[in-house]
Amino acid sequence: MKQNCPNILFIMSDDHAAHAMSCYGSRINRTPNLDRIAEEGMRFDNCFCTNSICTPSRASILSGTYNHINGVTTLATMMDNTLLMFPKLLQGAGYRTAVFGKWHLGQGARHCPAGFDDWAVLPGQGYYHNPTFAFKDPGGGEKRTVQGYVTDIITDMCLDWLENRNQGQPFCLLCHHKAPHRPWYSDDKHAHLFLNEVVPEPETLFDNYQNRAKAAEAATMRVGVHMNEMDLKCEVPDKMSEEDLRRWGYQRYIKDYLRVVQSVDDNVGRLLDYLEENGLAENTLVVYTSDQGFFLGDHGWYDKRFMYEESLRMPLVMRYPREVKPGMVNDDIVLNVDFPALFLDFAGVPIPDTFQGRSFRPLLQGSTPPDWREAMYYRYWMNRAHHNVAAHYGIRTNSHKLIYYYYDGCGQKGTEDACCGGSGDVMELDKLEPEWELFDLEKDPRELKNVVGDPAYAGVFHELRDELHRLQAELGDTRYSKDTD
Ligand code: CA
Repeated sequence: MKQNCPNILFIMSDDHAAHAMSCYGSRINRTPNLDRIAEEGMRFDNCFCTNSICTPSRASILSGTYNHINGVTTLATMMDNTLLMFPKLLQGAGYRTAVFGKWHLGQGARHCPAGFDDWAVLPGQGYYHNPTFAFKDPGGGEKRTVQGYVTDIITDMCLDWLENRNQGQPFCLLCHHKAPHRPWYSDDKHAHLFLNEVVPEPETLFDNYQNRAKAAEAATMRVGVHMNEMDLKCEVPDKMSEEDLRRWGYQRYIKDYLRVVQSVDDNVGRLLDYLEENGLAENTLVVYTSDQGFFLGDHGWYDKRFMYEESLRMPLVMRYPREVKPGMVNDDIVLNVDFPALFLDFAGVPIPDTFQGRSFRPLLQGSTPPDWREAMYYRYWMNRAHHNVAAHYGIRTNSHKLIYYYYDGCGQKGTEDACCGGSGDVMELDKLEPEWELFDLEKDPRELKNVVGDPAYAGVFHELRDELHRLQAELGDTRYSKDTD
């Protein structure tokens, strides 16, 4: 290990959309502690996940590989912990490593955290109040209930671990919050927030999905319409128009979501304070991100999965005073698969050839390599389950996005499970023929106008489709059988 390797504090929340952080220009909340990281470091405006759901994105973040390589394509595919993951390599290089909080990559000896000196994780999704944790033991985790609120407890665990660590080693600490994942149960401290306020609605709350692939209309994740009593914390009124349901449901859930976010922000502040009070701020790389984005009423939706911007984008702010100037903003394309290469780069550990991401340390230093990527590949493998969202893949460049909905689970585990959300008629996805969507992100940043049939975009379409297929081949994925030139 090189001398003076930085400590790494990687804070990841669950389903926290960038547009619910004030440093990203949120219209609906303030996050002063998350903003501190951005103000004292760098904000990334185009950090994307390669599959917008919890388990797959987490597998990519740890292993540096896409889901067709690491096998964690859906929520039903647990991660094999014998895979090569960056914490193991850091541990082998002399780092003290730990993870506390949400894991969601499986349980038991084969799926529990590996490569960590210490850990305590929530089994499955975990609970907001008085959660059970699995604590490190040879059998894959001894379960005990801990009294309190989950975001506070995870932070307490991190602070205790920092306080009692071996100071002769650099540390890599993963603080993985459950919040603000559904079902958004607030703590008492923040329960009063937004009580008598009307939270501003997103521009696309009343999206009617016209001129889009059928996938958009088919999805059973409309705010108010497809939410259950757990989401809304009350009975769902009948005899309300869809527009009124969306408007009402939005106010119901977004306030809970933001209350839960506020606790994350407070607790990030506690960790930042600890670093500063203990002389660790200068030599610790602090990262705040989320496993993917989330629809905050955008397109009339909650949840994620789609390759649309709000779900695709991960918030990412980083601070490391030794190399990163304060107040920097970067708009290069950075991906969840890049984190392992970045951390190994900082630790002076060689990056395995099998890792598919790239260290973005030069971006943090303010210079973009001339051969930095100009397009990213995305694939959502599930089909139908959950929320009746269609399987799709696509490519996003700095100016356009091309999506291919193929409406087929391709035999992936858990893909065809019953969809949830609402009752009544649900569009049968596997009876649909594949469709393309093309968006001009400069003219249509809200992705409301699919221009795939527009002759003016024929050249762009062919160029992007070729690039999509090239990226697929380069990354070792296979294209869908009906996706032919
Ligand atoms: Ca998530």
